[in-house]
Amino acid sequence: MPTYEYECLKCKHKFEEFQSITDEPLRVCPRCGGELRRLIGTGGGIIFKGKGFYHTDYKTSASDHKEKKSATESKSEDK
Ligand SMILES: [Zn+2]
Repeated sequence: MPTYEYECLKCKHKFEEFQSITDEPLRVCPRCGGELRRLIGTGGGIIFKGKGFYHTDYKTSASDHKEKKSATESKSEDK
């Protein structure tokens, strides 16, 4: 059972709520009736994006370096 953390945009009241994934997210602050913001859920997306970006960047620069090296080696062998 995941715990969702909410923050009220109106009175800054923070609280945690045990909810099942299929439950509707809370929208209304139980204290003042203001609009709620769910804090858990955005962090996971950012970490996943960063990992994918790093992996792609590393793969590209590594293959580029290898290509340049083998091209130089075959050139000197031909002479
Ligand atoms: Zn509130």
